[in-house]
Amino acid sequence: MRKKIRSQMMVITALAITLTTVFVVFAFYELFEKQVMDDLRINAHLILSEDTPTEKSLERYELRYHDLRMTLIGKDGSVLYDSQVKNREMDNHRGRPEFLEALEEGEAGAIRQSYTMRKSFFYYAVRLEDGNVLRLSKETDSVFHMMFCILPFIGGIVLCLWLLCAVLSRILADSLMKPVLQLAEDLKHPEKVETYEELTPFVGLIKKQHEDILKGVNLRQEFTANVSHELKTPLTAISGYSELIETGMAKEEDIQRFAKEIHHSADRLLTLINDTIRLSELDHMNMPEFPEMEKIDLYELIKNCVNMLEISAKNHQVSIFAEGEKVFVSAEKQMVEELVYNLCDNGIRYNDPGGTVVVRCGEKGGRKYLEVKDTGIGIAKEHQERIFERFYRVDKSRSKSTGGTGLGLAIVKHIVEKCGAEIFLDSEPGKGTEITVFFP
Ligand code: ADP
Repeated sequence: MRKKIRSQMMVITALAITLTTVFVVFAFYELFEKQVMDDLRINAHLILSEDTPTEKSLERYELRYHDLRMTLIGKDGSVLYDSQVKNREMDNHRGRPEFLEALEEGEAGAIRQSYTMRKSFFYYAVRLEDGNVLRLSKETDSVFHMMFCILPFIGGIVLCLWLLCAVLSRILADSLMKPVLQLAEDLKHPEKVETYEELTPFVGLIKKQHEDILKGVNLRQEFTANVSHELKTPLTAISGYSELIETGMAKEEDIQRFAKEIHHSADRLLTLINDTIRLSELDHMNMPEFPEMEKIDLYELIKNCVNMLEISAKNHQVSIFAEGEKVFVSAEKQMVEELVYNLCDNGIRYNDPGGTVVVRCGEKGGRKYLEVKDTGIGIAKEHQERIFERFYRVDKSRSKSTGGTGLGLAIVKHIVEKCGAEIFLDSEPGKGTEITVFFP
């Protein structure tokens, strides 16, 4: 990362300096060209203002305008006088653009580059009253030559700036990377890391993920401890009673009672194991593996469930009914059956003798719903949020004595999530509980 930042900064610096230099040199050279041309024009008019120049009169100006070349060109292009070429015949100038333009327009300027591109020649020509043309010219370094001359200077600046870049990029990379490295070293305390604005959401996310992982680990540990604890009680009973029978310490008349206890504990174990396996299946069920949705007739489903639970209800002296209208929802049938079964089973088990459980389905405000209402013992406010946690029970002994595992509502919550549904609880101690599930 550091290397990348450094090399990118260096490339940017070199590019910026080169582009700026080229731009500035060209801009200045354009001004310079204009200035030189203006000078030539002013000098030409100064000479003209004195008298019409002739070969003789121009010689007088040689000293005054020693840095300029003065040429007097006849109408036909023949060179009548040239301040720099004296004793040599010069070729005819009739083809020179400034001469031709001056003949037509009165005056004209032109710039030409030398063959090697090192020099620029500026010309300014003015037509005289007698038809001849006076041309002033000046030789300067070309823009390319100027650029070539300042090349070492630019190189020096680039080098200095590169050094500066190397230091700055190191500082920059360090300040960018420092919080990330700190975070990697101490993931447990992300709040101690000094971040900058852009990194804050990332640190927040890492912190949340880390907390979620820890929470997940804690929950799993707690769950394992709870499962072990729950398994222990029925296993101890089974082991104890069977030992009594095995060693012959159980009296004849107790054997049947002990066998019943063993049977009861074994059933508890089975229920507990089944619920634990079911929860673990739901935990690991990812959306892509999600069983195919089917159209379910909710009313048909609750009627079947009520039939299934009628004997259990009778044993608890509770009446159970199915009510409502035919509605169809898209979900996995086995899951919805499980959900209705668990809710109705709770409605029966946490009910009083003579109480009722009503299961209803239908459509409310355009949403399909399922509702299980009982006239049972109800749930106090402080427990209402927690009853969906694994192994959370309001009254442990009542749950156990009625065959509860403390996992029923945790399974319900999972199923509701998997179906994309919503669950609402309304309960009052002594009056009863109403649980409603809205399907998507
Ligand atoms: P359990 O197997 O103990 O019934 P659940 O997860 O089904 O476990 O329920 C958790 C706890 O919520 C129960 O132990 C009970 O205290 C309370 N509860 C659940 N349903 C009802 C209900 N209909 N009426 C009163 N209490 C309920």
